[in-house]
Amino acid sequence: MEGRGRSHPSEPLNFPFTGLIKCGECGMMISAEQHLKYYKSSDIGQRFVYYRCSKKNKLIKCGQRFISESAIIPQLNDHIQKVSLSTSDHQWFMNKLNTDEHQQRSEVLVIVQEFKKDLLNINEKLNKLLDSYLGNVVSREDYLNRKEKFMSEKKSIEQRISTLELFPNKWLEPMREFFDTALEANKIASDNINLFQKREFLKKTGSNLTLKDRIVDWHLPDQWAALSRRPISRNRVEMAGFEPASENTLKQIFSEG
Ligand SMILES: [Zn+2]
Repeated sequence: MEGRGRSHPSEPLNFPFTGLIKCGECGMMISAEQHLKYYKSSDIGQRFVYYRCSKKNKLIKCGQRFISESAIIPQLNDHIQKVSLSTSDHQWFMNKLNTDEHQQRSEVLVIVQEFKKDLLNINEKLNKLLDSYLGNVVSREDYLNRKEKFMSEKKSIEQRISTLELFPNKWLEPMREFFDTALEANKIASDNINLFQKREFLKKTGSNLTLKDRIVDWHLPDQWAALSRRPISRNRVEMAGFEPASENTLKQIFSEG
């Protein structure tokens, strides 16, 4: 087959950071190109990758210049590092979440018990109403009206019970995933071989990356921003002083989102 075994000229090459970063001047995507350099004296070929603004915006004449991949990588690593969690911090957050989950589960049980009492009350009222109707104390019209009212109350309580029983802590799972991702950050930032891992991580965190004057900037979604703002801790005693605040911020973000 023609062209087999070598890349076709029009075939897109795999660059880890294309389609990920926007130009900070004109807002267009950053694209990449490679240059192969052959050193005759040592018979060694070397590949250089450059990123540059695709300059597809016809309205803005973008003046941004290229940046080499090797200059981008340490900047991305710095960013990734900022949202990393150490193993002990990760464990601390996980323990907190487990405690919260247990606590919340028992709170939910109490609420569900209360709702079930309300249901019994309504059933009792319905029975009394039927008795009054059968004993000719209330009219048929009155009976039907009141019955409908009780039935709709009953339905709404039943719905609330089933929601509580099905999703008592629906924000906990995404929050666990979030901490697991942050635990990976350290490893990803220090691995400069598997560059696509960095890409995946940056996509996962939803970071809006921009490149201007060879500086890669990022704008994080709230939960990641909260994590990056927290001071780096090295021991738990130190952590006890600040964690409740950042933990509460995160909890709020996740339970509202
Ligand atoms: Zn541009």
